[in-house]
Amino acid sequence: MLTNDQLDTWDRENFFHPSTHLARHARGEAPGRIVRTARGATIVDRDGREFLDGFAGLYCVNVGYGRQEIAEAIAEQARELAYYHAYVGHGTEASITLAKMVLDRAPEHMSKVYFGLSGSDANETNIKLIWYYNNILGRPEKKKIISRRRGYHGSGLMTGSLTGLELFHRKFDLPLDRVLHTEAPCYFRRDDLAMSEAAFVADCVAKLEELIAREGADTIAAFIGEPVLGTGGIVPPPAGYWEAIQEVLDRHDILLVADEVVTGFGRLGTMFGSGRYGLKPDLITIAKGLTSAYAPLSGTIVSERMWKVLERGTDENGPIGHGWTYSAHPVGAAAGVANLRLLDELALVENAASTGAYLTAAMKDALGDHPNVGEIRGEGMLCALDFVRDRDSRSFFDAGDQVGASLAAALLAEGVIGRALPQGDIIGFAPPFCLTRGEADRIVDAMKVAVDTVL
Ligand code: PLP
Repeated sequence: MLTNDQLDTWDRENFFHPSTHLARHARGEAPGRIVRTARGATIVDRDGREFLDGFAGLYCVNVGYGRQEIAEAIAEQARELAYYHAYVGHGTEASITLAKMVLDRAPEHMSKVYFGLSGSDANETNIKLIWYYNNILGRPEKKKIISRRRGYHGSGLMTGSLTGLELFHRKFDLPLDRVLHTEAPCYFRRDDLAMSEAAFVADCVAKLEELIAREGADTIAAFIGEPVLGTGGIVPPPAGYWEAIQEVLDRHDILLVADEVVTGFGRLGTMFGSGRYGLKPDLITIAKGLTSAYAPLSGTIVSERMWKVLERGTDENGPIGHGWTYSAHPVGAAAGVANLRLLDELALVENAASTGAYLTAAMKDALGDHPNVGEIRGEGMLCALDFVRDRDSRSFFDAGDQVGASLAAALLAEGVIGRALPQGDIIGFAPPFCLTRGEADRIVDAMKVAVDTVL
């Protein structure tokens, strides 16, 4: 085993970390956590310190850490058949089984699943399929994609462009020309405080209509959105939002991509967010919860109406020229099969609904009246606290105040991991679905101490 000195030195000298302040990390000013082991909702670092992981890694270890059933399924698959590709119709028992299990759980109108490795590449696949679809339909101009400010859809070239958070665009010269951003449905952060929730929804819809009218519906191919905004602040949609958006999209023949990388497979207390909000997506993006991150695997679930056009496209043009070496990797697929079985056997989606509701209610009881807590919101096993400088005037902190970072550090001192979301003044929780009520209480107690310490 490496010594702590070796770990620190080798890390700084060799490891280019994602989404990291490189210079500060290299100078040793911002060391990360080096994690050794984990069980349930608890991770243990290299020094043996335990932390309750209130964010399930990056909201992905949904069934909890240390599940031997999944570890054994992975080992068994690797021993038996570590790899075979899925090009030109090939497959493995694991990938075929997982495709069936995904479709059995997806909304009824969905038809096929394409497997990738990450949420980002699944959304890149979506964009290509959307453009292909409109080319086959003889609509070469219908190519732009609308996403929302605060939306997160990945870090690839196009998916980074779709992501509506400035940090992910900064200095990268991403190809933003086929991407349009519209209003995010964050009622709490509305400009006009006097606006009712219904008026706010009508305003979001009117802004979308204006955008479509300005650009021309014949240039817009699709709209992508997370059923509940995740990285952009953990924001459940206001009542009636998705119904109204779906109606606009249908009227203008604009496809809907439901990005369920976070919400898919139970995080909202229902199998998919699309079902929870009555969406009828043409494509659903899945990743994290598909394997609970025991192996990298993602997917694009395609509706029957799109599938028919894709099939026609290959009759007219030959095989579809889109594939990754690791598409439907059998070890990832075996992890997915074992993971989805566990979700069912342990009724973890039900626990996400009940313990998640308990966590959000307990958080509101403890901190709902605090003068710096503007809003506490949640859905299923997602919970967020939106902090304000002053509750009555609803004035916000400045980015330089580092409120989120300070709160996250104070939480950590209490042995609990929460995530300061990129806006800087929102703390999010997305624990594993196996969270107990006792663990939920510990998160709330730690949050209370953190708020008392920092604010
Ligand atoms: N879509 C959503 C909604 C996400 O939250 C994420 C990642 O957090 C992604 C896409 C990108 O997934 P990945 O990081 O696996 O590329």
